[in-house]
Amino acid sequence: MKASPLKLAAQLAALLFTAAAIPALAEEVVVYSARNEQLIKPLFDAYTRDTGVQIKFITDKEGPLMERLKAEGKNTPADMLLTVDAGNLWQASNEGLLRPIKSKALLSSVPSHLRDPGNQWFGLSVRARTLVYNTGKIKPAELSTYADLADPKWKGRLCLRTSKKVYNQSLVAMMIIAHGEDKTEKIIRGWVANLATPPFPDDTKAMEAVAAGQCDVTLVNTYYYGRLMEKNPALPLAIFWPNQNLKDKTDGVHVNISGAGVTRHAKNPVGAQQLIEWLASAKAQNLFADANLEYPVNPAVAPDQSVAAWGSFKQNLINVKQAGRMQTSAVKLMDRAGYK
Ligand code: FE
Repeated sequence: MKASPLKLAAQLAALLFTAAAIPALAEEVVVYSARNEQLIKPLFDAYTRDTGVQIKFITDKEGPLMERLKAEGKNTPADMLLTVDAGNLWQASNEGLLRPIKSKALLSSVPSHLRDPGNQWFGLSVRARTLVYNTGKIKPAELSTYADLADPKWKGRLCLRTSKKVYNQSLVAMMIIAHGEDKTEKIIRGWVANLATPPFPDDTKAMEAVAAGQCDVTLVNTYYYGRLMEKNPALPLAIFWPNQNLKDKTDGVHVNISGAGVTRHAKNPVGAQQLIEWLASAKAQNLFADANLEYPVNPAVAPDQSVAAWGSFKQNLINVKQAGRMQTSAVKLMDRAGYK
């Protein structure tokens, strides 16, 4: 049975009339994001389609976003902060920019080492910082751990990104937790002694140097490897997962996160929490992680096929907040060790 077009039109008119009679109640969540627009816009659009909730966002580097939150104080329009690196999230919570939230959904979808023990921020994707080597120059069996790259056998064969990048600060911070300051400083001095070239400004340039034969091995976040190999699959580069013979939970591949928290002065904290819960849910996790060739934080969700092809690995299970807590020590240590 078909409804007549006239009847449909009348129903539609009635609906429109009702909608117009109700004052605008469209819910809105405001997000400050250090994750760039092309990665988050498709997700936010999907959320709006799913829930009807509108999302307003601005994107900038994490430093200016946090300064802005501080300067705006109670008047901030932001309900949620989305950023990369646990060091930055730790800093945001340490400076009182976030609030703790109670969420059973987040406790079950985000593993405990990838969220704030005080529930102020939660990982949404995992980024692994690992070794990439020249397949023409070394065999994977020659590689073992981050610390082993300090061995004199790697003299003139190592390339690194600058110590100014938070990714390396977080890695060294976690090494301090694993080895203590003295041993970590020895390792970093060893790395510096083994450098083939001065440190590079980014992970991609370091890998290009390895591919060009300037050095044999470097340390990068896997999504940069993924992007480079997508562009140029013929490069003689491969991933190696270090520290896989776990003696305790300080071993394993160094992982970091992108993640989010609800701002201290959120006008719509419930809406912000629901958005974070949705981003961590099985439904949204592939959209969130795959767009940047990262790993889903939710263990129930498999990574993108191209990412899964790099093989599985065991993670370092120390809580990533230590990357923030030990960051100042790590920066000073790298400076003492001459790592530019
Ligand atoms: Fe990055």
